[in-house]
Amino acid sequence: MTADSKKTEVRHRDTLAVRAAVEPSQYGENSEALYLTSGYVQPSAAAAAARFAGDEEGFTYGRYGNPTVASFEQRLAALEGAEACISTASGMSAILMMCMGLLKAGDHVICSHSMFGSTIKLIGSDLAKFGVESTFVPQTDALAWKAAIQPNTKLLFAETPTNPLTDVCDIRALADIAHNAGALLALDNCFATPALQRPMEFGADIVMHSGTKYLDGQGRVMAGALCASQELVTKTFLPVLKSGGMTLAPFNAWVVLKGLETLDIRMQAQSARALALAQWLQNHPGVARVHYPGLSSHPQHALAMAQQSNCGGAVLSFEVRAGDADEGRARAFHVLDSLQTLSLSTNLGDTKTLCAHPASTSHGRLTEAQRQTAGVVQGLVRVAVGLEHLSDIQTDLDRGLSRF
Ligand SMILES: *Cc1c(COP(=O)(O)O)cnc(C)c1O
Repeated sequence: MTADSKKTEVRHRDTLAVRAAVEPSQYGENSEALYLTSGYVQPSAAAAAARFAGDEEGFTYGRYGNPTVASFEQRLAALEGAEACISTASGMSAILMMCMGLLKAGDHVICSHSMFGSTIKLIGSDLAKFGVESTFVPQTDALAWKAAIQPNTKLLFAETPTNPLTDVCDIRALADIAHNAGALLALDNCFATPALQRPMEFGADIVMHSGTKYLDGQGRVMAGALCASQELVTKTFLPVLKSGGMTLAPFNAWVVLKGLETLDIRMQAQSARALALAQWLQNHPGVARVHYPGLSSHPQHALAMAQQSNCGGAVLSFEVRAGDADEGRARAFHVLDSLQTLSLSTNLGDTKTLCAHPASTSHGRLTEAQRQTAGVVQGLVRVAVGLEHLSDIQTDLDRGLSRF
């Protein structure tokens, strides 16, 4: 929808996070309205024809668009610094929309092998059934990404920092590799969010989101989105939405829209706790190793600070001290089973701190050898840090770490 001239003068992200939206209705509501409607009454037959043809702006049918959904899209696009955004029912359906829009049989995709598990399954297995080829490369090795380029490579898809080891890739380097090959770079920005990292500033063409995570921020609804150029959104992704129907529900859009208003302060507060917790864990006798981009011991610390607004983010993982894999698993389980305040949950992006054992959950379907390559050892615990008081988080983790 068109922004009025007053709005186009607004440049600051903080302001856009609470203001970017479609125009209020004739009732002048200050909080954006939740439009629960599947259809729209057309002003005239000619206007309906023009709207369906895409020659005139206006809503036609709930699968194609909705004012509440459009407000969420405008706000997220503003935060990412993108021309446009198109939303979907979940993060995975955003990836499906991207792949269906950009790829056909015989095309090739390159991804990191530490991508989100369902992403690896979707691209490596499900899309392979339709003749899409894929190569998975080490996250941080730009030369491996470059070496994997083929004449039919259409898309490079990365995620940074990764889950659960927080490996950071160089977005600018991958964008250059993609563009030199005539391909596009898509970036899954779930972990850092636009509050910390805006991949388009480093040359990414598409930014993908699971709105289910930090954008909502309170673990309530599923949502997904792609931010990209107006042309990609209108010509490549919107047709997939219209025929594929992976539409974001207006209620979910409204929840995530309101979540974006506090995204920045949540990310700052949760990341500050994560940094303090990472430093405390690093000095804990029961902990062998901490993975957190905000620590100077992180292999890509400098790159992470440059790419992520000088901030490590809210997710960390640590390895318990153990003699072998079996002991590591037992000790990690003990830490999780000793929790009294924090949640044992494989989700992330909540104000409640969520702790998980990746080797038996998100990475449980891999073979032990694959897990070793990925670094997801049995003693690894992931913590998505929320907003509880730091000392309560420490007390809860210390219970299982100090006594075994
Ligand atoms: C959760 C997640 C997804 C998938 O999003 P859903 O909303 O669960 O479909 C994709 N990428 C990353 C990094 C995620 O954490």
